[in-house]
Amino acid sequence: MHERRRICEQVVKGLFAYLDGELDEAACVEIGRHVKTCPSCYRRLAFEKRLRAKIRQCSSQDAPERLYRRVKNVLDNNLTTTQNA
Ligand SMILES: [Zn+2]
Repeated sequence: MHERRRICEQVVKGLFAYLDGELDEAACVEIGRHVKTCPSCYRRLAFEKRLRAKIRQCSSQDAPERLYRRVKNVLDNNLTTTQNA
């Protein structure tokens, strides 16, 4: 279980690079495999994907970057709280 949590942390850290296509193939495979077995990481990945699509749609509006950071902050705080519980 401890090992699994460690992997979750790595997945979450790598999620943005993963969605940006910046990870190498092995790391992508690793994350892809993990989210299939880990509902919480899967949900997070799905959320990030939707968030990105939304931001892309709104990219002509003001300050999507600021909104993005704010949402990410909330997520990060949330995650920290969950993991400490
Ligand atoms: Zn996970």
